[in-house]
Amino acid sequence: MEQDLIKSIAARVAAELMRTNSSAPRRHLIPTGVSNRHVHLSEVHANMLFTNGLTKYRDLSQPGQFVAAETVILAGPKGSIERVRVLGPARGQTQAEISVSDAYKLGVSADIRESGDIQGTSGLTIIGSNGSVQLDGGVIVAKRHIHMTPEDAAFFQVQDGDIVQVRAAGERGLIFDQVAVRVNKNYALEFHIDFEEANAAGLKQGDLVSIVDRGVYCAAPGADDTDSGYPIRNESKKGLTLVTEEAAKNALDNLYIKPGGIITPLARDIIKEKGIKVIYLK
Ligand SMILES: [Zn+2]
Repeated sequence: MEQDLIKSIAARVAAELMRTNSSAPRRHLIPTGVSNRHVHLSEVHANMLFTNGLTKYRDLSQPGQFVAAETVILAGPKGSIERVRVLGPARGQTQAEISVSDAYKLGVSADIRESGDIQGTSGLTIIGSNGSVQLDGGVIVAKRHIHMTPEDAAFFQVQDGDIVQVRAAGERGLIFDQVAVRVNKNYALEFHIDFEEANAAGLKQGDLVSIVDRGVYCAAPGADDTDSGYPIRNESKKGLTLVTEEAAKNALDNLYIKPGGIITPLARDIIKEKGIKVIYLK
């Protein structure tokens, strides 16, 4: 009995260390960063909105990025949202990152974009303590993404620009598709989503998620034919030519094999064990 208690405490301590100690062995786990609505301001706009520009309130997990003490009001044709955070430092162009619900409330369109890709997006009015700015564009709903260093990318076997799937465990657990991988030596490993996406999966700041797949073509849950599958990565659209142990481990429900494709003996064992359906493409 006491032995069990000791074991369970030891396990918890180990889990906590894994979470906080960056020198711990790498695992396939990524902390979640949940973003609330916020704006990035250009230097010119920051000085138009606030007498003294931006001042730091607290640091963000991405190196050099901070939350400013100043807040703004976003005003659109249908409504406004107060106390919106400003993130610093100032950038080349002003950008407002909002949720889909916010877009409805403001009466602007919700374009899902990667940060910086603002051409053709909606505008709105940003109001600060010292003035306001009318934007012609720059309103986006951020495309979900993972920040990582080149070392992380090598570990996960992904590249900058890859689209992967991310799995959140737990009671509302789900798999996020269409997650962009962003690699830069100045990034800290983090899965970035907005509040709506986080709530849908029951995820909180710092919760750990995993990349489900790195090249395996899996079917949507409940899919019963080859057409309803969806690609994890573009190059795997037509199924696999070689199913390795790793690929089998990463498969969800179905595995698609190209004509003449090979399954290694170890992969076969895993497929059997996990009850994965193998579909041979014609
Ligand atoms: Zn991000």
